Amino acid sequence: MSQIFLYDTTLRDGTQREDISLSVEDKLTIAHRLAQFGMGYIEGGWPGSNPKDAEFFRRAASMRLGDARLAAFGSTRHKGVRCEDDSNLRALVDAKTPVVTVVGKSWDYHVSHVLNATLAENLEMIRDSVAWLKQQGREVIFDAEHFFDGYRANPEFALATLEAAAAGGADWLVLCETNGGCLPWEVEEATRAVAARVKTPLGVHCHNDSGCGVANSLAAVRGGCRMVQGTVNGYGERVGNADLVAILPNLQLKMGHEVVTGEQLQELTALSRFVAEVANLKHDDHHPYSGHSAFAHKGGIHVAAILKAADTYQHIEPALVGNAMRSVISELSGRGNIFLQAKQLGIDLDSGEAQKVLAQIKRLEHEGFTFEAAEASVELLLRRLKPGYARPFEMIDYFVITERRRGRGLLSEATVKVRLGETVKLTAAEGNGPVNALATALQQSLVDAYPILRTVQLSDYKVRILNSTSGTGATTRVLIDFHSGSEMWTTVGASTNIIDASWHALADSMEYALVRLSSAGAGGA
Ligand SMILES: [Zn+2]
Repeated sequence: MSQIFLYDTTLRDGTQREDISLSVEDKLTIAHRLAQFGMGYIEGGWPGSNPKDAEFFRRAASMRLGDARLAAFGSTRHKGVRCEDDSNLRALVDAKTPVVTVVGKSWDYHVSHVLNATLAENLEMIRDSVAWLKQQGREVIFDAEHFFDGYRANPEFALATLEAAAAGGADWLVLCETNGGCLPWEVEEATRAVAARVKTPLGVHCHNDSGCGVANSLAAVRGGCRMVQGTVNGYGERVGNADLVAILPNLQLKMGHEVVTGEQLQELTALSRFVAEVANLKHDDHHPYSGHSAFAHKGGIHVAAILKAADTYQHIEPALVGNAMRSVISELSGRGNIFLQAKQLGIDLDSGEAQKVLAQIKRLEHEGFTFEAAEASVELLLRRLKPGYARPFEMIDYFVITERRRGRGLLSEATVKVRLGETVKLTAAEGNGPVNALATALQQSLVDAYPILRTVQLSDYKVRILNSTSGTGATTRVLIDFHSGSEMWTTVGASTNIIDASWHALADSMEYALVRLSSAGAGGA
C-alpha cells in the first residue's frame, strides 16, 4: 500500500477551538513533540494574522525538527494586488519555512458573495500566488477551501481552481471539507473524479461537523489522496477537525498503509495525552485508541472472555498504539475483573481471595463507594488481602472543628492520632476548611517517618450526594485525586458524614502513595 503523509494543523486550525489558547512557548513544545513523533508536516500558524504566530516562526527557524517539514499558512493574494506587493504572501515568505500552504476559494458562491471577484479573477489569484511562492523556492501546498461544497455546486469551476494551482506549480492539491457537513461516499466519489483529472498529488482536510471527519478523511484516501490533514485529538473550531489520533491507526492497522514506523505508532497515546496537557484540556477518557477507557472492560462476561482470549472483546492489541487493557472494578464485576486487575499489578490471587475482594467491593458499593474511578483504593483492597502486607500507619482518632468568630473569621483545625509501628503520634494543623485541615494534619503526622510524602499534592476533590431525598442525612461520596510528579491516583470514601468520607479517601491516598512511591513504606508488600 502506498505511503500516506500526515499533515498536522493543531497549531493553526486546532487553536481555533474556543477553549484553547496556546502561548508561543506551548506551540514550540508541541511542534517539537510532533516532530519527535514522526509527523510529516507541521503547520505552525498564520504568520500574517497575528504577532504570536510571527514570533513562533522566528523562533522555530532555529529548532531541530528532524524529518518533519514546517509549514506556514496563509491565503492567496488579494484581488488587484501584485504578489510581490501582497501583505499575505510577504508574511508567508518572511516565515522562512520550507513549506507554504496557501488557501484559495474553490466554491463559486464564495467567490461572488464573499470575495466579490469574478471567477476568472479568482483563478488568476490562485495561479499567480502559487507560481510566485514556487519562485521563492518553497514546497507549495494549495488548500482548496470548501472544495466538496464547491464541487457539488459547480464541478467545472471547482476543478478549474485545482488546475489553476497545478498550472502555478503546486506540489500538492488539498481538497478541503471546510464546513464539515459531507458524508464519506460523497467525499470518496468527488476525490476519485479529481484524481482522474489532475496529476498533482492530492490531500484532504476535513472538519467533523457531521461527526464524519475521520470517516471522510479515510474515504478521501480510498479515493486517491496521499496526504491527510488533521489535528491531534481532533481539536478545532466548532466540533473540531479530523482527528489524527484516530486516522493514523486506522490507515496503518486497518487499511494497510505505511504512515509511520511501528515504534512511532506506539507513541500515539502519549502524544495524544501530551497535547491535551499542554493545551490545558482534560484528556478524554473515551477517546478512540488513546483514551484511558479505550481498552477498559467492565462487564464481567467480557472480562471472563478476555482472560481466555484478549481479542474476543477488543479491536486491536492496545500496545500497538501505546495504550493498555484495563479491567474496571465495580458491582458489575465478576471474579475475572479482579483476577485481571491483580495480574496487571503483579499480585497473585487464589479464587477464595478474589471472591473475598469481590464481596467486599459489592458491599462497599452498596454503602456508597464507587471503585470505577478509584483504582488506587482497589489496589489497596487487593494488597491488604495478601499475607505479609502491613499497613504503613493506622488511624486511631481524629478531631475536627470549624468555627466562625466575630473578628477572627472562619477557622478550621484538625487533630489526628496515628500509630506508626510502636509509636503513637498526635498532630494538629489548621486549614481553610475542615477537609483541608484534616489532610494537612495527616500528611504532617506521616512526613517524618516517610519523607517521600512531602512530594504528594492534592489535585482534585469531588463530592457527590447520593440518595439525595434523605436531605442532610444523605450519604456523601468523596473522590480525591493526588499526584506526585507524573504519578496520579484516585481514592474513594463514602459516609453519611462528609468529613468521615474524606478521611477514608485521604487515608487511602497516603497509604497508596507509600506503596507506590517507596518500597520502604509498603511494609513488605
Ligand atoms: Zn480547517
